[in-house]
Amino acid sequence: MRVIDLRSDTVTLPSPEMREAMYRAELGDDVYGEDPTINRLEALAATKLGKEAALFVVSGTMGNLVSILTHCQRGDEVIMGNQAHTFVYEAGGVSALGGVHVHTIPNQPDGMLDLVDLENAVRGENVHFPTTRLICLENTHNRCGGAVLTVEQMAAVRQVADTHGLAVHLDGARLFNAAVALGVDVSAIAAQVDSVQFCLSKGLAAPVGSLIAGSASFIKEARHIRKMVGGGMRQAGVLAAAGIVALETMVERLAHDHANARRLVEGLADIAGYRVNPDAVQSNIVMIELEGLGADYDAVGAALEAEGVKISRMSARRFRAVTHYGIDSSDIDLALAVFSRAVRVA
Ligand SMILES: *Cc1c(COP(=O)(O)O)cnc(C)c1O
Repeated sequence: MRVIDLRSDTVTLPSPEMREAMYRAELGDDVYGEDPTINRLEALAATKLGKEAALFVVSGTMGNLVSILTHCQRGDEVIMGNQAHTFVYEAGGVSALGGVHVHTIPNQPDGMLDLVDLENAVRGENVHFPTTRLICLENTHNRCGGAVLTVEQMAAVRQVADTHGLAVHLDGARLFNAAVALGVDVSAIAAQVDSVQFCLSKGLAAPVGSLIAGSASFIKEARHIRKMVGGGMRQAGVLAAAGIVALETMVERLAHDHANARRLVEGLADIAGYRVNPDAVQSNIVMIELEGLGADYDAVGAALEAEGVKISRMSARRFRAVTHYGIDSSDIDLALAVFSRAVRVA
């Protein structure tokens, strides 16, 4: 049975070219700054994003943690959306490990923060208050269904930050999906923020790793914090080699993932029993609900799984499907036939 795994774009396997590059990678001890492949990846990422420097980290979670700990001292406050990956899915790390106070405001359905909410969330000077230091954005926005923030939306947040002397960090786990969806260069997005984290291990299909990019002084301090949290790696060039291939060969193909997500959502819209919003699908994520309050999500999920279609459950009454390297348009057609049968058990 063909298994069509739409749980996440993290399930992607490295391409043959990546495995070859990993095998051949020139290596050294990166904690001494002597791994030439790591140095090459970091320089490449910095150039692509239009930042002075970049730093390889283990994961997106570590990238956000290290970035926020670099911007903030204990007791400082970071403002982010209540659907932010950093708030929901990163084990509360910035609070637990950094003593950083998280101030959430509602994410709008398009992944944006309301600018009035944002202004109201910034603390004035008062002995009672924590010190607001940082605003975090997410683009594309995972829990908002892969919604893409435009450069203009990000610039509006930048302006609020500048008015109040705050820094802006972007959780750009799917930064390249955003750039492809908008038809802009990643540097145009990165230019709106002080620091950005992006994942190599999602749609770009590398096995491991993320990069943080920012100013040279920011990255110097982030390198220190990365060591503190145990993220200093030695011959990590074996991983960076795959990352270089990812950046050089996997970006343009993200458009296929977006087209497949569109094919999926339009197909689902035609099957009675599913509730989807084709207008909301801007990148590689499709949020799926079932019609009717009594619909049995467990039963539909199990029926899909029994026929080899895997999706993830985002909450009690919501599924998520993600397209990626390894899923082609014929898989989407196969999956739609399974979706059509599975909903009859709801
Ligand atoms: C996946 C993801 C991360 C974290 O990445 P890991 O490498 O799994 O730690 C961070 N932010 C967003 C929006 C993500 O989707």
